Amino acid sequence: MTDILEALRDLLDDDAVLAPDQAAQRASSYWDPAPLRAAALVRPRDARETGLVLALCHDRGQPVVTHGGLTGVVDGVRSGPGDVVLSTERMTAIEALDDVGRTVTAGAGVTLQRLQEAAAARGLLVPIDLGARGSCTIGGNVATNAGGINVIRHGMTRDNVLGLEAVLADGTVVTSLNRMVKNNAGYDVRQLFVGSEGTLGVVTRVVVRLVEAPAGRTTALASVPSFDVVPSLLRALERALGGQLTAFEVMWGDYVRAVTEPGLHRAPMGRDHPFYVLVEAEGGDPATDRAAFLAALERVMAGELVTDAVVAHSETERRALWAIREQFEALFERRPIFLYDVSLPLGSMAAYVDEVQARLRRRWPDSRCDAMGHVGDGNLHLFVHPGTATGDDLHAEADDDVYEPLRPIGGSISAEHGIGLEKRDRLPISRSPAEIELMRTVKRALDPRNILNPGKVLPPA
Ligand code: ZN
Repeated sequence: MTDILEALRDLLDDDAVLAPDQAAQRASSYWDPAPLRAAALVRPRDARETGLVLALCHDRGQPVVTHGGLTGVVDGVRSGPGDVVLSTERMTAIEALDDVGRTVTAGAGVTLQRLQEAAAARGLLVPIDLGARGSCTIGGNVATNAGGINVIRHGMTRDNVLGLEAVLADGTVVTSLNRMVKNNAGYDVRQLFVGSEGTLGVVTRVVVRLVEAPAGRTTALASVPSFDVVPSLLRALERALGGQLTAFEVMWGDYVRAVTEPGLHRAPMGRDHPFYVLVEAEGGDPATDRAAFLAALERVMAGELVTDAVVAHSETERRALWAIREQFEALFERRPIFLYDVSLPLGSMAAYVDEVQARLRRRWPDSRCDAMGHVGDGNLHLFVHPGTATGDDLHAEADDDVYEPLRPIGGSISAEHGIGLEKRDRLPISRSPAEIELMRTVKRALDPRNILNPGKVLPPA
């Protein structure tokens, strides 16, 4: 049998197949600068070529790790020297933007930002948005069921994908490019692949639902006196703003202080508040929407749910407020740092964070645990730094302290990042044995030789 590199070169043009030394000139991921390891890096142009690659790999029992924009944070794209890495980077066509049916059909390798810009040029909005928009790809968003900052209004990626094209492990192309919102004809095939993290098929094209672009946005940063008022504040704003609330991002005071230290983001208001909330609303009439937003803000201030607030008066000011929430590189100056994306009922959130912080302090007295997140969706991000502690098990110990308190409250170890390799062995905290067995049944049916991203998502049986 010829080696896999030669066999792939027989299938595709030379430019589409990179040898291990060429692959090693790339970083392993957005977060990991170590050289990418692979038996070959293959860059098919479309589903047909992807099918050729997978049929070959299926015949040989050859593992395949699919790469999108590599911005994932759960080690879902890790590859070894024996793996074929399949990159969707050449699938970059925006094929059809239907502004009557309000859908866009695009190759898996199109970056989210490019898709957003194409929609914006036609007065439409891609309902999916996340901080990594400039690098992440729509195929990766679908494969990981990305969440992000608009979920409170528009739902997760799962809710915004109307159709897709995917290639199965044996090379079969499944074209399911549905463009209707309503299609109840049998099992919903597309949802098998959404959030499958490269373990059930390779997504090659996607149909995304579009919505009308808002005529205007109003954005404010507000300080709140304690977490106890956060649920009331959320409800008061939802009530006052109807369906216009698109973001409700809570940041613990220590987080805001860490990212607004001198030389970092400018603090738009006092830095000593216990909690901050970034609120954004979108609407169809900028003048009346803004007035309604300001009136709602006045009411929650009069009701002492909010102690102070800054409203953005320009896109520059809006971006400066969002930068505090989205650009937290300053936290990564502390090494090591472990990032979490847990999900739990809003009513349990304050006590949960207190418990995690107390556990961590008992374990590591000089540890840090900063919190913020899409609290309107019950999704918290935690940044845990073990302080001066050393050892090989720091990450696993932090996982214990973050994940175990989720058990009694029925929380999830992953709100939006997925499972990958990093959380695989913790999956039983959030999924029952019957659920995990059903996942295994699906995996065996779609990938009987276990070649697609093997070892990710599902814990060993
Ligand atoms: Zn997030």
